[in-house]
Amino acid sequence: MKLHICQPHGYCEGVMRAITIALNKRKEHPNTPIAILGMLVHNEFVIELLEKHNIMTINRPTIDGDNSYLGNLPKDTLIIFTAHGHPLYYEDLITSFGLTYIDATCPKVEITHDIINEALNNNQDIIYIGQSNHPETEAALSIDDKRIFLYDLNDKLDFSRVKHQTPKVVNQTTLAINELEHVHNHILENIPGAEIHDEICRATRMRQEAVKNIPADVDLIYIVGSTHSNNTKKLVDVARISHPHADVYHIQSVADITPHQYENKKSAAVAAGASTPLHVTREVINHLKQLPE
Ligand code: SF4
Repeated sequence: MKLHICQPHGYCEGVMRAITIALNKRKEHPNTPIAILGMLVHNEFVIELLEKHNIMTINRPTIDGDNSYLGNLPKDTLIIFTAHGHPLYYEDLITSFGLTYIDATCPKVEITHDIINEALNNNQDIIYIGQSNHPETEAALSIDDKRIFLYDLNDKLDFSRVKHQTPKVVNQTTLAINELEHVHNHILENIPGAEIHDEICRATRMRQEAVKNIPADVDLIYIVGSTHSNNTKKLVDVARISHPHADVYHIQSVADITPHQYENKKSAAVAAGASTPLHVTREVINHLKQLPE
């Protein structure tokens, strides 16, 4: 089968950095319990890799939930915050249990937080475009729950809540480019003075552009990544819009490929989310390469 491989694939810098932080901590502290609050990055193969190094993934705390399980951890446990950022109250919560934390937040996410903080210091309110309940969104909203207004991609925003005439508009880093443009237009129609900052990260942007540029005659597209991964799900959305005549499958690994998917197909493309391990994508590519023309 003719095969088009989207570049880049493999980890983005933020994912690579978070995994390196966790594995380095294991090397530095071979006998210390290490636990991550939620998925370090959104991929199950990465979680398995960390488990092999005895780095456990535990539940994320909730602001009004029962977080007493943290008190059952050994007192020398190192807690790692995930690459998506964390709600600010996590820091006090962890120290209140006598535990130590390490922050693996992606620097690109931190830049967005810096923009938010600077705007708040300048008395500018914030509209944050993102998905409610996503850890990156929760982290951003926690900076100031009174002056940051969520434009939820599913629920939109009640604009009457925003009193400021020139709010700063920022977003989750892994949104789809087209979707974000649409939301920006919607905001500007309602608040013409809104100051737009496009915060889609370079890694997300490059992967979406690569999917858009898949040759038009490709009739089968595989997007490899976890169903938890927002940037992977956005690649699926982009592929379905840019290649409406192709069959698009979101797969987690080669194990999800079945013969009926490629029956009568002439040409396939493979793209992968920013948290998908390279070897997982390579297995998909190698499998497809072996199929007859
Ligand atoms: S996708 Fe972007 S924001 Fe998310 S970890 Fe990678 S570089 Fe950072």
